[in-house]
Amino acid sequence: NTFDGDESGNLQPRKTPGVLYSKAIPTPVEKPTLLAWSDELAAELGIQKPENQEETDILGGNKVTASMHPYAACYAGHQFGHWAGQLGDGRAITLGEWEAAEGTSWELQLKGAGPTPYSRRADGRAVLRSSVREYLMSEAMHYLGVPTTRALSLVATGEPVLRDMFYNGNAAYEPGAIVMRVSPSFLRFGNFEILAARKETENLRKLTDWTISRYYPHLQGEDKLLLWFREVTERTATMIVEWLRVGFVHGVMNTDNMSILGLTIDYGPYSFLDDYDPDFTPNTTDLPGRRYAFGKQAAIAYWNLGCLASAIAPLLPDTKELVEVLETYGNVYTEKYLAMMANKLGLDQVKPEDVDLIEQFEATLSTIKPDMAIFYQLLIDFPLGLEEKQDVVKHFKESLYHELSQEETETLYSLITNYSQRIKTNGSSREASQKRMREANPRFILRNYLLHQAIEELERGQDQLFVKLQEAMKKPYSKEFDEFFAKRPDWASQKAGCSMLSCSS
Ligand code: AMP
Ligand code: MG
Ligand code: MG
Repeated sequence: NTFDGDESGNLQPRKTPGVLYSKAIPTPVEKPTLLAWSDELAAELGIQKPENQEETDILGGNKVTASMHPYAACYAGHQFGHWAGQLGDGRAITLGEWEAAEGTSWELQLKGAGPTPYSRRADGRAVLRSSVREYLMSEAMHYLGVPTTRALSLVATGEPVLRDMFYNGNAAYEPGAIVMRVSPSFLRFGNFEILAARKETENLRKLTDWTISRYYPHLQGEDKLLLWFREVTERTATMIVEWLRVGFVHGVMNTDNMSILGLTIDYGPYSFLDDYDPDFTPNTTDLPGRRYAFGKQAAIAYWNLGCLASAIAPLLPDTKELVEVLETYGNVYTEKYLAMMANKLGLDQVKPEDVDLIEQFEATLSTIKPDMAIFYQLLIDFPLGLEEKQDVVKHFKESLYHELSQEETETLYSLITNYSQRIKTNGSSREASQKRMREANPRFILRNYLLHQAIEELERGQDQLFVKLQEAMKKPYSKEFDEFFAKRPDWASQKAGCSMLSCSS
């Protein structure tokens, strides 16, 4: 039973005290049809592409093989800064562990395969729109070099799913779909928080020991718990810095969406930045607070790590050292951030005075709000000798969303002048610096409006753009897909109400 009735006969989310997961069998769908398959991931896993309906049925949850033991995990979380209590996999079902080459092991999980004991009042389903977004973006992030979970397949269910379109209260049917997600583990901070909240210290210790021995086997000895928390802190900082490098906004950094392995997980109302705006959040439920805005992600990660620290604190005799490790986050993050920015800007090292220049970049971009990806591409080829203000503006024109005022022109000119001087002091050649920049700055990003267009086409039964985006996302640093090298069109701006589209579940 998914639901337990209360005395008044109302359906209640089931509470599962003492358990870390519950058995959950996928609910069969009308007609599983393969829409996308990740050949490269499949090759890594050693899994053959489905060749007939029976094999596709597995990806749609219609067939459970003898070796699978499907379950849904129980976790809790802090959502938008508040304790949300028990959550759990409400529409994700893990089929099992897949042992691949070289001793690697992968959790294979269906998202949208029907209700589980943790579905609360929801249906356990996912719409094509959100499934396409998760499938494409997790693979795109992989090719960008950002730590992430992966997606092996996307299957249409042939069944409609009822959704509250764009949160405006108009319920509508949308096509359903299922993604097979793949990760060494989908464990979240919330898996530890639930056990702490229930004061199940023995289970908490078991889960922590198991997580360390399985995913952090290099950590051993008496201090391993602290060393583990240190490594989770480092990996989380790395993930955030990588998000900032490519301009990614996750949109729902609740602690139940924070991977214990430092991977980007649970792709929902995410977005890349088009115009550079640290206050941008793609999540309508994050307004007006903008807790999960682009520029707040580093601070939120620290807050979330604090929740994890609180959760594991009962396992330590005193919390002093744990707090000390948590407090290293600021320095760890800053060091990684500066190194990343040096790569983006083509600096051969970060000298103390470079911190000012990096801050000047942030401030200037926040003021002028150019297209982030295009601006950095133009910076790579900036002719260092350019002296006239209007020539500088002209060089960056392709990235600008509005005509620069006199003041903005001065701001940009001052930045670029400082930058040009600094680049000349590099120990290595300009070519070496440009190569470094090309490797740090994506030229192709999966912009929200492109996803939106691809999804609309798919819903009409056309897959040209969808197929094209799958190719382009594999080469984000090349010029091969320059047909997409353009600013977001006006119709898709947030002012036009569009950047918030294609987000909900
Ligand atoms: P999210 O905001 O997507 O991370 O989801 C928060 C919680 O709600 C998770 O426990 C999800 O499993 C659950 N959830 C979200 N959408 C659905 C759905 N359609 N059916 C059941 N559970 C859901
Ligand atoms: Mg989630
Ligand atoms: Mg979700």
